[in-house]
Amino acid sequence: MSTIFALSSGTLPSAIAMFRVSGSQSLPVLRQLSRRKVWKPKTMKYTKLYDSESKIIDEAMAVYLPGPKTFTGEDTAEFFLHGSQAVAVKFASCLAGIQNVREAKRGEFTRRAFHNGKLSISEVRGIDRLIKSRTEKERNAAFGQMRGGVRAIEIRKQLIQILSKLFVIIDFGEHVNLELREAQQDVSEILHELNRMIKAWDGAERAQRGLDIVLYGRPNSGKSSILNQLAHDDVAIVSSIPGTTRDSLETIIQINGVRCRLTDTAGVRQKTNDVIEAEGIRRAQKRIQSADIICVVVDPQFTSDDDVESILNDVEVMRNREARVIIAKNKSDLSLKYPKLPSNFTTVSTNATTDTGCKQLQNCLGEIVDDLCPEASYLLDADLLRRCSFELESAVTCNDAAIMCSHLEVALEQIGELTEGIVTESVLDGIFSKFCIGK
Ligand code: GDP
Ligand code: ZN
Repeated sequence: MSTIFALSSGTLPSAIAMFRVSGSQSLPVLRQLSRRKVWKPKTMKYTKLYDSESKIIDEAMAVYLPGPKTFTGEDTAEFFLHGSQAVAVKFASCLAGIQNVREAKRGEFTRRAFHNGKLSISEVRGIDRLIKSRTEKERNAAFGQMRGGVRAIEIRKQLIQILSKLFVIIDFGEHVNLELREAQQDVSEILHELNRMIKAWDGAERAQRGLDIVLYGRPNSGKSSILNQLAHDDVAIVSSIPGTTRDSLETIIQINGVRCRLTDTAGVRQKTNDVIEAEGIRRAQKRIQSADIICVVVDPQFTSDDDVESILNDVEVMRNREARVIIAKNKSDLSLKYPKLPSNFTTVSTNATTDTGCKQLQNCLGEIVDDLCPEASYLLDADLLRRCSFELESAVTCNDAAIMCSHLEVALEQIGELTEGIVTESVLDGIFSKFCIGK
């Protein structure tokens, strides 16, 4: 297998250009370029680097890291040069000129790490996610996925231990009941953790795709104004002519590190002869169906008791079961009487005409977002986890060692898929092709 190299430190010019070399030729490469025979492992050394005609390329820091305790599991050398385009191009061409050394393909370092058993597939996917993460939550989720891979390996070991104990009980069991209860206890602890992982996964999935927040209410209640306040921007057209927001307007905002798509829906006047407005209403309804959070905007000028009842009724019929509903009592500055609101909803007061008038609403949205997307700790494929959890559930309540074993064996298979995975080369190609060079 050839030795590979890449500029691993990103765009030039920069203060330092870091080249990573991985493979059996790493030490010879280091010796050849530095003209220095002795390289003490894991010790950073200042050195001059020379091209094949013994002309100096640069002065740099370099280190030799023998495998297998390296990122790729192979012998590795790292060079820290001056971060100019000219230096990097020259150095890369010198490396490429050495026999059996070539530039790395996208994700090839990580791929070698995976093949050498340094990373589980969950961790690989986690790194992929980490590189692409746009928000703090997504970054955490990526780390969670990497850690999840490690945790799954431990769970697998624990299951194997329980199973081997059970086999002993089956063969030579004396205190069968006692030992069976012990096994059940162990299984129930694992089950508990699995269920926590599943919950974290759901939250991370939500954080990854982003949340949908929909503003819904009568025309002129102030939806566009609230959207502008939340977005700190004049995204929506605010007007005092009812029905101005004909189509659904949307903007992306971040709430506590989660990307949220905020939509200002068309008003929901049920009867309209205007074709465009009718289409707007239809789209608004579609948005309600997929919303994670629905903020019903009620104002004391244009919303009556009956309106509130019919709006909340609409929402109740259309919303998905998981969606959270809050009511914003807007135009609080007008000191007018609000229509009657049912007491079982979270309500906040808003004044969308001032910068600070939506603070309560922002706080409330923040709390809901945190609740829907909890901090992700260990993340793994939820379907496999659910199947595994299902088997453990059966095992916990089982009073027969042999039947318990069979449930645990199926659970073990599911966990095995997580840790080893029947991962084909083409799946790997798909994952690694999205990596950047040098990863
Ligand atoms: P939408 O049709 O629900 O999107 O309502 P708009 O955001 O277009 O607002 C309708 C009218 O109400 C505009 O003239 C806004 O300036 C006004 N408005 C919105 N929010 C408030 C508020 O909190 N207080 C007051 N006094 N006026 C508001
Ligand atoms: Zn509007």
